[in-house]
Amino acid sequence: MKVMIGLEIHCQLSTKTKLFCSDSIENAEPNKNVCPVCLGFPGSKPKINKKALDYGIMVALALNCKINKSMFFSRKSYFYPDMAKNYQITQYEIPLAVDGFLETEDGKIRIRRIHLEEDPAKLLHVGGDITSAKYVLVDYNRAGVPLLEIVTEPDFTSPKQVREFLEKLSSILEHLGVYDSSREASLRVDANISLEGGERIEIKNISGFADVEKALNYEIVRQKGLLRMNVKIERETRHYDAERRITKSLRKKEYEEDYGYIFDPDLPEIEITEDWIKQIKANMPELPHDRVKRFVSMYGLNEYQAKVIVYTDKYLADFFEECCKSYKKPTEAAKWIITYLLKSLNWHGISIRQSKIKPKDFVEFLELIDKKVITERYAKELIKDYVDTGVSPRKIVESKLTKIDDSQLEKIIEDVIKENSKAVEEYRTGKTKALEFLIGVVLSKTNKQADPKKIREMLLKKI
Ligand code: ADP
Ligand code: MG
Repeated sequence: MKVMIGLEIHCQLSTKTKLFCSDSIENAEPNKNVCPVCLGFPGSKPKINKKALDYGIMVALALNCKINKSMFFSRKSYFYPDMAKNYQITQYEIPLAVDGFLETEDGKIRIRRIHLEEDPAKLLHVGGDITSAKYVLVDYNRAGVPLLEIVTEPDFTSPKQVREFLEKLSSILEHLGVYDSSREASLRVDANISLEGGERIEIKNISGFADVEKALNYEIVRQKGLLRMNVKIERETRHYDAERRITKSLRKKEYEEDYGYIFDPDLPEIEITEDWIKQIKANMPELPHDRVKRFVSMYGLNEYQAKVIVYTDKYLADFFEECCKSYKKPTEAAKWIITYLLKSLNWHGISIRQSKIKPKDFVEFLELIDKKVITERYAKELIKDYVDTGVSPRKIVESKLTKIDDSQLEKIIEDVIKENSKAVEEYRTGKTKALEFLIGVVLSKTNKQADPKKIREMLLKKI
């Protein structure tokens, strides 16, 4: 059954101030970053933040869009407590940019439009979610934060492709420096999905790429079930309940025409000149796909390694390059980052940016392996302790290697030989694997505080 998915993505731009006033967008106590403009007081007048336009133009260029030479803002009217003015300032008739694309492994995704708008206030649903809360608190700090809305054509054919696209897109936004991925819900996705024979369903406001994928997978199963039973699927807006991993109906879909868009007379028409675009082009940072290519040619990584390091998160790519300044075997560094460091970080559910890992310590760690101070096998354990504690691997090794002296170790080895006579016998009859087993037992008895190489030597002498 053919699946069609299209996205509307809202990205909070990391400007210093809001889109139409000079309030900060930094985190603060609720309702601190507010003023007459973003609270919609009578007589207040919005003023456009040029930085937000610069950022919008950068993203439009990175997504291969055509930028409109002249554009304006409109009022989208609706009544809801998240919008004190009862209208949102957005772009409707003529957006900032149109007709772009972004490549995925499974083909091109066309970008229909990119426009700027203000974020509404944040609603805090207390005692439940949007469908069940007892009451709602409103935080207007978020009202007026610049959002860039990116709308795709319905070109996606699977939830997995959606996830890849979102990872690529967020990497582009990070490389451009226009958004901060560590901010809560800085990228929010509305996903539209239809199956052949049914109307489309919109799932609103999902944050987190894994949740977007899960919500879409859930919808495919749900809609297939309905179609199989000949139930008509009508247009509808749904909400994703991340805890129960299901979608729930919010309302029958309203149409854009219902919002009664009008031109906002408080804001001027904005002309985007060739010079302006040229200037931004000249100062564009390196984009992730160029960085992948450079990692292959400059550091000799294979394409897979380069992609993992660049697309996992810009901070990781920066970390890798920082390591390579003093460590001259980039492919070794890449191997340890991808296979062991990332695994450990994932296990803890943190990004490298949230961790205490530092390039200098990591390079020392790689050098410990190169100089055979530690075995690879021990290194795999050590990296876990490193991620756990943030203590530099060199320090961990130094403290552990000195904690057990030879006579203590000898005693432990003798005990292990006594207690594991079967394995000793096996080793003597030629099963070399039994030795590894014995080393492992000794190692764990020493709480990994002895050097595996030394254990091996001493064991061999005794059996
Ligand atoms: P609206 O104006 O009602 O929001 P649009 O036509 O502008 O609707 O489309 C909004 C989003 O829905 C876009 O991201 C688009 O790609 C997606 N979309 C449109 N048609 C379909 C469809 N049949 N199946 C899935 N997604 C769709
Ligand atoms: Mg929209």
